[in-house]
Amino acid sequence: MPLRQTDAIVLRTYPLKESDRIVVFFTREYGKRRGVSRGARNTRSRFGSALEPLTEVRITYFERPQRELATIDHCELRQSLLASGDGAGFERLLALGCIAEVSDRILPDHETNDAAYRLLRLVLEALRSELPVWLPLTYFLYWMVRLGGFLPDLEYCAGCRRGLGEAESFYARGRAGLYCSGCRPPHGSRLRAAPRRLAAAGLAGPLAALPPEAWQAPEPTADLREFFRCALEDHLEAPLRSWPLLAGLTPETAPPKAGNDIENA
Ligand SMILES: [Zn+2]
Repeated sequence: MPLRQTDAIVLRTYPLKESDRIVVFFTREYGKRRGVSRGARNTRSRFGSALEPLTEVRITYFERPQRELATIDHCELRQSLLASGDGAGFERLLALGCIAEVSDRILPDHETNDAAYRLLRLVLEALRSELPVWLPLTYFLYWMVRLGGFLPDLEYCAGCRRGLGEAESFYARGRAGLYCSGCRPPHGSRLRAAPRRLAAAGLAGPLAALPPEAWQAPEPTADLREFFRCALEDHLEAPLRSWPLLAGLTPETAPPKAGNDIENA
């Protein structure tokens, strides 16, 4: 029964039986894992708030051969987002819900991905600030799509291969890539030149190097989030449950369908 100790980011927790919890955590060294924390739901839990989603922890757990679930032995808080000030509390919670869901669903089990780990740390760190959540969230989505290997070409039409230049481009469900107006897929959504340029140039670089205006207004990042969402949902072949509430906060995006899935957000 190998004992592992590593830094990890808690992605999700689910209740199990009366007092236990299943914890999904993304480790720096061993990739994403699922484990059981015994007694974690007791009011005086051994690990306190260390098992809250999107906290960074130092975790010790046992792997058992042929078992999907590891046994969590110890967990120590390294940094918590909840400790920060609460400027845009609700927006931030929804952004964190989306980040947790995308990480959980996109990152494969047992696969080390140091770039994804550093990305999560960086974005969570940015979300601790009082700045709006939209740019760090967009940056996260861009890199999850890119690291997942399904970022479309942002410069050339996937149909005729001509450069998209300063023109609008279009994309659609189930049709990988961006298209010019001549090759526009039926019912395609529009991605304007400015957000596309931001993705092609800005998001590929460091988050801190992005200009102040990219941090402030939801535009043009709202269009990009929709574009990345389409790529993620195509890849998952399922909708992101956290999206409708999040999209409802930015008037530029499609109005959300009212739903009762706040627990899933
Ligand atoms: Zn074309």
